[in-house]
Amino acid sequence: MTEYLQETDELRVAIDGPAGSGKSTLARELARALGYLYVDTGAMYRAIAYKAIQAGLDPANESDHAAIIDIARQVEFHFQWEDDTLKLFIDGEDVSEAIRTPAVEKLSSPVSALPGVREELVAAQKILSQAHSIVMEGRDIGTVVMPDADAKIFLTANPDERARRRWRQQRERGTSRPLQMVQSETMERDRRDSSRAVSPLKPAEDAIVLDCTDLSRAEVLEEAVRIVEEARARRDASL
Ligand code: C5P
Repeated sequence: MTEYLQETDELRVAIDGPAGSGKSTLARELARALGYLYVDTGAMYRAIAYKAIQAGLDPANESDHAAIIDIARQVEFHFQWEDDTLKLFIDGEDVSEAIRTPAVEKLSSPVSALPGVREELVAAQKILSQAHSIVMEGRDIGTVVMPDADAKIFLTANPDERARRRWRQQRERGTSRPLQMVQSETMERDRRDSSRAVSPLKPAEDAIVLDCTDLSRAEVLEEAVRIVEEARARRDASL
């Protein structure tokens, strides 16, 4: 990867896809290989869900929506690398671990479907995306946050494989839950994310769809680097 680390020009890379497709792993490794900034937008929606739970709010209650949107309006996000981990701080609190619990994960989808929440977070993400040399990952990056990204990757894998990955991740974090439960929650989250009215999960028209069901981590990274290199060549040819 050393040749990529030496590149100094700037590109904006959007990575979208459903839960458990391996987006975060790919985005993190790609950002590191390219020496780019990495932004995990799912962590931002999770952080709002975490704060909402703390405040006793529930997106299922319409009367709580205004208060949840207020959280999104007021919260201050700060990403920071520590060793190999991207930490997220909100209002000075390190929530990197707290936002990975099944309860927060479950609530992050209905919270993210609230138009007022999306409006606030997309505005913050658009500001972050103005820094060039960025890999940003989520559900609507190629379609809404960075529609003019140089390279757009839509990462996917078959549903069983995605559920297994999420289940393994939860086990590594010490949460032992039946695979079937994780499977039905993952499917429910995808259904919600794909069918919501505002910014539904879908590939941008100019995204490259990468199915990683049968690819190793290294192969996915290699393919993504190739896609970015092609985008760079395309952009350089048009200069
Ligand atoms: O990517 P992750 O699984 O951490 O995202 C948590 C939730 O946040 C997703 O299920 C989705 O509902 C929401 N999300 C979103 N738009 C993004 C990123 C995440 O709606 N750009």
